[in-house]
Parts: sequence; structure tokens; C-alpha cells
Amino acid sequence: MIYNEEFETLPREALEALQFKRLQQVVLRVYHTVGFYRKAFDDAGVKPEDVKSLADLKRLPFTTKQDLRDNYPFGMFAVPMSSVVRLHASSGTTGRATVVGYTKRDIEHWSELMARCFVAAGLTKNDIIHNAYGYGLFTGGLGAHYGAERLGASVIPISGGNTKRQIMILQDFGPTAICCTPSYALNLAEQGQAMGVDMRSLKLRVGVFGAEPWSDKMRNQIEDVLDIQAMNIYGLSEVMGPGVAMECTEGRQGMHIFEDHFLAEIINPLTGEVLPPGEEGELVFTTLTKEAFPLVRYRTRDVTRLIHDPCRCGRSHVRMDRVMGRSDDMLIIRGVNVFPSQIEAVLVGIDGLEPHYQLLVDREGTLDTLEVQVEVREEAFANADEVKVLQRTERRIVKDLKDYLGISAKVKLVEPKSLQRFEGKASRVIDKRKI
Ligand code: ADP
Ligand code: ZN
Repeated sequence: MIYNEEFETLPREALEALQFKRLQQVVLRVYHTVGFYRKAFDDAGVKPEDVKSLADLKRLPFTTKQDLRDNYPFGMFAVPMSSVVRLHASSGTTGRATVVGYTKRDIEHWSELMARCFVAAGLTKNDIIHNAYGYGLFTGGLGAHYGAERLGASVIPISGGNTKRQIMILQDFGPTAICCTPSYALNLAEQGQAMGVDMRSLKLRVGVFGAEPWSDKMRNQIEDVLDIQAMNIYGLSEVMGPGVAMECTEGRQGMHIFEDHFLAEIINPLTGEVLPPGEEGELVFTTLTKEAFPLVRYRTRDVTRLIHDPCRCGRSHVRMDRVMGRSDDMLIIRGVNVFPSQIEAVLVGIDGLEPHYQLLVDREGTLDTLEVQVEVREEAFANADEVKVLQRTERRIVKDLKDYLGISAKVKLVEPKSLQRFEGKASRVIDKRKI
């Protein structure tokens, strides 16, 4: 089944004609409404009129996460606040989160795209969807919620957390589908089993999982423990939220990018050059219909490749492969995005620490774990109440990481000069997760 047959199966030529028309409009609009774009285009020596074909896209400058941060909170908006009906922000950032806005029409588009995703996953209005993506500033919860309602399915807005209660609802309400991060799906299964619940005999038949990297191995595991079909969904708040791309039940290899709304490119992250079809590189998006927060050539930092082969499902939209990694150092810990630099910013705000730290990321069972090791100053050891002081510092770090970044970490204070030193670029992250 296809939710929007007309647009999802548009023949390539018609699709590209539509993309070009929309691209011209976007470029013209951002140039005249967003100071950042006017300056960026002027600096690059391009005018909106220079975009005479889709191929001219590569003449336009990139937009980066740093640009969004520099224009915090609303500097990138292309409409007045009176036209904005919703605000969201990217997860786990200090003061300078990335704030995104939506007009009424943006929300309508987003809802439709999420409805398309659910249909691609094999769901209909007869399904009951247990939505365990977090509701709030994070785009996951409300994004999936509106899509489920648009489809006409029954949505349970359970949000994240409170796992025991989730398991009770799964048993009592009998949802047929579940949305959450893949690691949370495994966590639910594990806790359910521990409670003596036969998780395979629940009514669940489909899972729509995303917001963090996962593998086919993990897919098999989830499908096995929950006896469901596990489907991959991709999105990022800057571009819209969940629902930028979605796997279909026929293909199950790569996620269709909704190309009538988003233009995708793959670039070499080092040179910025556009790579030939099928090559692996960094995914770049230009939004084609967004009103409040349009993006031109936004560098996602996600590394993947595009699959241009036709898909059995009949959708003409190109597919993106699983995200294979990041071209920057962003970590995703239990669904929360965090950069080592943000952890560093928290550490430098605390007395008695040296600016030497290391991050150990691992996975215990189904849960991501983070251990922050940081050196303490020589003086801290000289102190008479040494142990007490160290304990207090440790607690303070744990609390600040939770308060400012929303992450739960174990903290280990280590002796001065005990951590590895680097010549050149420091690599402070040791990621032992095998996903
Ligand atoms: P979201 O609200 O969708 O989590 P964020 O902006 O917080 O959006 O995070 C987006 C990032 O999450 C993406 O850039 C990507 O790195 C990661 N991500 C989202 N979906 C997937 C997926 N299906 N597979 C791998 N990584 C994903
Ligand atoms: Zn398909």
C-alpha cells in the first residue's frame, strides 16, 4: 500500500521537474527572507536566478549545524513568528540547541509524510500504535503522533520512560504497532521478560524504529524477541523530524527519501564535492516545501549512500542505505545526541578538574552506557578531606551532565596525568558498542 500514490510514484522526469520548480521557489524565498542565506549566497557569488536546473544546486553554499547555532534561536526562520505554530529543539544540547519552527502547512506536510511512513511499514487505520518516542521538544513523539492520527490509526501517546507501565499497556491495550528507538525496543523486551511477560505473544506485529543507528543484526534480534516486523525510519529535527525517509515492506533495503519534499545529495565530507551515484559519503538535504525553517544544502554529517535501483513497491523515490556512521564526532547515547565538546564544556565549569578527559561508550545488555573519565588537579589530592571532596565533585559532574545535556553517565575521577595525551587531533571517545 502507498499513502500518496500520486506523489510517491511520480516518474523520475516529472519528479525532477517538480523538484526544480520547488527548488527555485525555496532559493528565492530564503534569499529574500533569511539574512543568513542572503549573506551566504552573496559571499559565494550566486544569485537565486543562477539556479537554472537541478544541477545548479551544487553552486549553492552549504549550511551547517554551526550556522544554525550561530543564529540561535530564531535567526534562520523565514516567516514571522505569527505564522509559526510549533517549536521543537534538537535533543541534548546546552544553551545553544538547534531550534526549529513549523507553520501550519509544515505540520500538515510532516503529518502526511509520517502517515506515508506508517503505510510503507504496512500499517492502516485499523492499527493501534504505541508511540514510545519522547513527547516534548524532541521531534519524535509529536511527529509520529500526528502521522498516526493522519492515517486514522489509534495512537497511544505513552511517550518514553516508565517501562513497567509501558509493558502493562502493551498487554492491556493490545497495540499492533510500536514506535521507539531500536535500543528501547530491546530494553522493553528484556524488562517484559524479566516481569514474566511472554513478549512474543503480544498483539504487536510491526515496529517503526529510528532516531539512532542500528544494524540488521539488531533488527533480527528485535524481530525475534518481540515477534514483529521491525522497520527503519530516518529523520532529523533540522530537516523536519522523523519521516524524512522510510523503509518499505517490499524492499527492506534502504529507506525511501520523500523526494517531493527533500532533495538529497551525497558529498565527500572533506572536499564538499558531490559524489557519483551510489557512492558512500555525507548526506546533504535541501528542503523543498518547508515554510518556517527552510534549509539549503544542510550537511547532516550522516554517512550513507543512495540506492537508485527501482524498488518492487512501486515508489519512485530514491533510497538511502542504513546510516553507517557520522562524519563528525556526535554520539547518540540512548537517543540523546551529544558532542564531546558539550561534555567538555560541562567539565570546564567545575572546579578542581584538569581539561583531560576520556569518554567510554559501551552497551550493557540493551542500554547504552557512558563513562566519563576525567583527571583531577594535583591540589585535590593534597586536601585533607580528599575523599569527601572527590565524591562531591563526582556527584556534581553526574548532576551537571544530566541537567545540561540530559545524559546519564558514570563518572570516574582519575589521577593527574594518567589519561592518554594526543599529538594532533585528540580522540577522546572510545566506542565499544557493537550494534
Ligand atoms: P530525531 O528527533 O529524529 O532523533 P535528532 O535531530 O535528535 O532527530 O537526531 C537526528 C540524528 O539521529 C540523525 O542525524 C541521525 O544521526 C540519527 N538517526 C535518526 N534516524 C536514524 C536511523 N534510522 N538510523 C541511524 N541514525 C538515525
Ligand atoms: Zn520500496
